[in-house]
Amino acid sequence: MAEDKCSFCGRPRSSVNLLIAGVSGHICDYCVSQANDIVKEEVTSGATEVIKKEDIPKPSEIKSFMDKYVIGQNNAKKYLSVAVYNHYKRITQQLGNDDVEIEKSNIIMVGSTGTGKTLMARTIAKMLHVPFTIVDATILTEAGYVGEDIESILSRLLQAADYDVASAERGIVFIDEIDKISRKSDNPSITRDVSGEGVQQGLLKLLEGSVVNVPPQGGRKHPEQKLIPVNTQNILFICGGAFDGIERKIANRLNTTTVGYSAAKKADHVDKSNLLQYIAPQDLKSFGLIPEIIGRLPILTYLEPLDKVALRNILTEPKNAIVKQYQKLFEMDGVALSFDDNALDYIVDKAIEFKLGARGLRSITESIMIDAMYNTPSSEQKTLKVTLKMAEKQMSLISKLRLKVA
Ligand code: ADP
Repeated sequence: MAEDKCSFCGRPRSSVNLLIAGVSGHICDYCVSQANDIVKEEVTSGATEVIKKEDIPKPSEIKSFMDKYVIGQNNAKKYLSVAVYNHYKRITQQLGNDDVEIEKSNIIMVGSTGTGKTLMARTIAKMLHVPFTIVDATILTEAGYVGEDIESILSRLLQAADYDVASAERGIVFIDEIDKISRKSDNPSITRDVSGEGVQQGLLKLLEGSVVNVPPQGGRKHPEQKLIPVNTQNILFICGGAFDGIERKIANRLNTTTVGYSAAKKADHVDKSNLLQYIAPQDLKSFGLIPEIIGRLPILTYLEPLDKVALRNILTEPKNAIVKQYQKLFEMDGVALSFDDNALDYIVDKAIEFKLGARGLRSITESIMIDAMYNTPSSEQKTLKVTLKMAEKQMSLISKLRLKVA
């Protein structure tokens, strides 16, 4: 009997690893794999999703979505929602000859570490229909020094877009720790400032909207690597930074303006406990961002410091709140977990005492739960109540030095 053959490539059974029989033919493993590649390619090349006007979420819908995950920060949420909404409008705009072209408005968010900047960016990403990536500005250095080139920011966006350039060109990039590339002093120095102005100049090119040659795999450019041109004109940039100590610059400015202006200005009440709410572009300049960068980040918003009430809410309220996560973990072992109110207050107090902010809530809760998580799975226990006494006892067992912030 003649040997079975692949009906696609004609290879006989003896020359392939596997021949799969169909109703009226056969297919070999090579052809299966090749067909799979073709399918993948077709599907991704068609992936440049067409966003219909009615699919664009309204600013209030974007904010409501963020409310499920992020406590407080209404100002920043509002600014972000509007910016994302306008971004959608811009990328769906069909330009006629005499149409008004909507320019993009990149955003800068200023707020202490652990107040929810990254969380907000991640949350928005969950509901977006455009590619989104988060990069850390600290990895960037000027070309020629150790570190990644500015263009690698776009490599990540390309990866997020499955290398669909058209889709990446409408994406959103969140650049974290933007304050880390500030000029170290207000006076430009003669020696090259590796981590400062040069990187800002590089970044400017991306923010302004230009065609940038991107190394597809990221990292440093290699001469042999093929570069992909990406136009950044429609890419929305959201920057975030803690800008430690910027309150002093704000206070200085507020003082000088009150002296310089009329007495009526003096009467304006200044809430000294939250100076960030008065932040203005000139404070960013005093901090060390170059004016050109500030000009390309026209929307400036701030995050509130998290007080006791906010921290308490963060423990229990968000969709994936820390307490809910532990309850889920225990539920998987058939154990109903609950927390006494005063145990939760204790966790918040410790986070404040150790100056750990929201990031500390998890490490403190973890320290309190560790023994229970170790012992309960092998016990018959069906309920567990975390009391203040248990929390205090567990905390006394660990050194506060070990409560490091992730
Ligand atoms: P940063 O402002 O430094 O980017 P993150 O967004 O990374 O801070 O916050 C660190 C962690 O603290 C988050 O993963 C989240 O669990 C918690 N957190 C911070 N702020 C909030 C908030 N406003 N609402 C809910 N959780 C928050």
